[in-house]
Amino acid sequence: MNLQEHYQHLLSEEHGNPRLNFRKPNRFALVYPSTYQLGMSSLGVQVIYATLNSRDDTACERVFVPESEYLRKLVSQKTRLFSFETQTALNRFDIIGFSVSFESDYVNIPRTLELANIPPLAEERSEWEPLVIAGGINISYNPEPIADFIDVFVVGEAEVVIHELMAHFQEWKQSAKGGNPAKRGTYHPSKTELLKTLATVTGLYVPRFYDVTYRDDGTIQQVRPQPDVPPRIRAAAVPKLDDVQTCTHIHTPNTEFANAHLIEIVRGCGRQCRFCVADYARRWPRHRSVQNTLALAERARGITDRIGLVGASISDHPQIDEIATGLVARGFRISCASLRAETVRAPLLDALADSEQGTITIAPEVATEELQKVVNKAIPRERLYYVFEEALKRDILNLRLYFLIGVPHETPADVTAIVDMAKEMRTILLPYAKRTGRMGRISFTISPMVPKPHTPFQWVAMEPPKTIARKLDFLRREINQLGSIKVGSASARLAHQEAAFARGDRRLGKVILELARGASWNQAFRNHGLAPDFYAIRQRPFDEINPWDHLDLNVKPQFLQLEFNKHEKGFMTSECDTTVCKKCGAC
Ligand code: SF4
Repeated sequence: MNLQEHYQHLLSEEHGNPRLNFRKPNRFALVYPSTYQLGMSSLGVQVIYATLNSRDDTACERVFVPESEYLRKLVSQKTRLFSFETQTALNRFDIIGFSVSFESDYVNIPRTLELANIPPLAEERSEWEPLVIAGGINISYNPEPIADFIDVFVVGEAEVVIHELMAHFQEWKQSAKGGNPAKRGTYHPSKTELLKTLATVTGLYVPRFYDVTYRDDGTIQQVRPQPDVPPRIRAAAVPKLDDVQTCTHIHTPNTEFANAHLIEIVRGCGRQCRFCVADYARRWPRHRSVQNTLALAERARGITDRIGLVGASISDHPQIDEIATGLVARGFRISCASLRAETVRAPLLDALADSEQGTITIAPEVATEELQKVVNKAIPRERLYYVFEEALKRDILNLRLYFLIGVPHETPADVTAIVDMAKEMRTILLPYAKRTGRMGRISFTISPMVPKPHTPFQWVAMEPPKTIARKLDFLRREINQLGSIKVGSASARLAHQEAAFARGDRRLGKVILELARGASWNQAFRNHGLAPDFYAIRQRPFDEINPWDHLDLNVKPQFLQLEFNKHEKGFMTSECDTTVCKKCGAC
């Protein structure tokens, strides 16, 4: 089977794909810089695809990075990368939009452009080549490492601002008809004028209009905006979740969430966990109404009865019990992303049990009270055990727990406490299994803490990979020997790479380009006189200019500093109360 046939097969298994109308004036290639299976698991891709195709002036198609077997053939046959739906070469689109969720996908951005025979560096592209844009959570907190490849970034939540971008593009394209791109001429007005206009829109960032200079020690001296663009780029935010249809639009069995209809019911969080970029980059907490959730679920009728409720701290939704019981009463089965132990109540557990959901997921993150104060996430141990027991009573036999290691101020005792917690979980599970003859599974997933921009931990040094690896080895060994608990852990090396990109600056573009062309990690950094540790494991002072400081994610920098200071003293911060609070500036 070749790639074309493979795509035809995947297309034939999709439900809900809109009929594309090619008489629309603008052609948009939405690129997920990884495989189809991962891309179609992304609600961001699903929503932007549906949003763009709902416009009268835009036909949007998807583009994925082919799996290695197909990629090899594509390269050896010198075929340009093409779209999923109509197999149109990528360079024939008006706009190429990358949806980026993970640092590990950065190298696939220049790689994708080169596979399409498009110069990866924005400064080397001509007027008549596609406009290249990018959005996604990483873009919101720090797009600088990929700034060399991109014409326009969407900072913040894209659902509304994408319409503004398309409206400006359409207007420009109409007025620029005098230019003839087929003859490789220039547009009038030029694309630079379009970019100048886009740079003034809230939520859009045109990196070429911001000049960055560096000191001899490698830190940033200045980020200087050119005339007529805002000094800080304010993130776009959707005022009400009910206004956007963040749910699965195309169903396919070929995703991570096969046969589930996902609905985002919580955006942002409000618990103020100091490591969490999902909280800080998506401020303020918003909740989808019961009525709107039930209406979005009805779209899945006849396709699947499994509704996946998505968002940070699902059980914090003030009406989660009504949503869960309402869905089950209408014949749906539900599953949930991670739950917050303090807010899980009987109606939600009953609904999960009625849905034959065999697993619940909770993220305690740390196992001692001291570290709970550091990260500002204090789930009482007794409450966690209570929820587990209540789940077991309902035949929800499996529990998945997430932990972090390498948290600031972590001691050996804090790491050992994770093992102690595993022992205590077993003392709940084993008597139950003996009594009922039914053995559940507990799994611990342990990840290194990667400090992220725009969080109070943006200044802290990440632990070196060797220290992290030692701790992971210890935890794997100690917990595995207990039996009946499975341990999964992220790689210390990959976490270190993620950390280098997460807090990287614009100079990393050259490194990423070399990596895309096959250089090794260390060699690519060395070739440009850079070191990953400079970005990943260096404590940063408050007065250093961070590469992302000119992006305004609606949280005041002073609030982040205050939270940083509080973590050092072990002081906690109460959760958001959006009715009265003005503390961080987002509300
Ligand atoms: S202003 Fe207060 S309630 Fe609103 S997001 Fe900030 S901390 Fe939370």
